[in-house]
Amino acid sequence: MQRKPIFAANWKMNKGPSETEDFGKSFLPKVQHKTFPSDIVIAPPYVSLAKASELFGNVSSVALAAQNCSQFDSGAYTGEVSPMMLKEFYVHYVILGHSERRSIYGETDEVINAKVLKAREVNLRPIFCIGETLEEREGGKLEEVLRRQVTVGLKDVTEKDLIDTVIAYEPVWAIGTGVTASAEQAQEAHAFVRSLIGEQFGADAAARIRIQYGGSVKPGNAAELMACTDIDGALIGGASLEPSSFLSIIENGT
Ligand code: PEP
Repeated sequence: MQRKPIFAANWKMNKGPSETEDFGKSFLPKVQHKTFPSDIVIAPPYVSLAKASELFGNVSSVALAAQNCSQFDSGAYTGEVSPMMLKEFYVHYVILGHSERRSIYGETDEVINAKVLKAREVNLRPIFCIGETLEEREGGKLEEVLRRQVTVGLKDVTEKDLIDTVIAYEPVWAIGTGVTASAEQAQEAHAFVRSLIGEQFGADAAARIRIQYGGSVKPGNAAELMACTDIDGALIGGASLEPSSFLSIIENGT
C-alpha cells in the first residue's frame, strides 16, 4: 500500500507573528507553485496562525496545524481554543497528545481521546502522538504503553475518521534530546503500532494509516528513518525552525 508521507513542523512555543513572517519569506519561494510527493504541514503557536494563514492559506503544498485544541465546543474554559475556532484560520490538522501536553499539562489518554473525537466533528485531522519514556522502554513496557495509548486515545473513532488521522510515534527520550531512535528501533515500534491499528480497526485501516516518526529528526538522519517500511514521514520540532533544515528533511526523506 502506497502511503503519502507527511512532514509536520511542530514549532512548539517558538515564533510569534513577526518571526512567522520571516520564516514565510524564506520558505515560501521554495514551496510555492511546486508539487511535492509528500504533505507538508506547519504548526505555529495559536497567536501566529493568522499570520501563517495569510502567508500559506493559498499555497496548496502547505497545510497548517494547531498544536492543541479543546475537547469542548465553547464556554467557560479560560485559555482554551475550540476546534471550530481553528477552522477560521485555514487549519486542517491538530497535534494532539504530544508528550509535552501529557507530561507538563497532565493530559490523560481519556482527555486526548475526547480531543480527537471533538476535532473530527469539524473535520480537523488529528496528528495523534504516542510514545514511551526511557524508563518505560527500559522496564520492558514499550508495547504495554503503546497499546494503552492507542486503545484509549482512539476509542470510538470510526474507521473513516481514523484514515484522516495521522499517528506520530515519538519516543519521549528522543524528543528534543538530540538522541534519535535507531532505524531498527523506530521500524519495530511503527510495525507494532500498525498491528495495534489492525487489531482495533482492521487490516485495511492498518495498511492505510500514516504513522510518522518524531524525535530529533534532522537532515542527516531523515533518509535512513524514512526508508523504513512502516514510517510515513516525520513530526519535527527543533530542526523545523529553520526553513532550510525543514526543507532538507522533506527532500532527504522522500
Ligand atoms: C516534537 O516536538 O514533536 C519533536 C519531535 O521535537 P524534536 O524534533 O526537537 O525532537
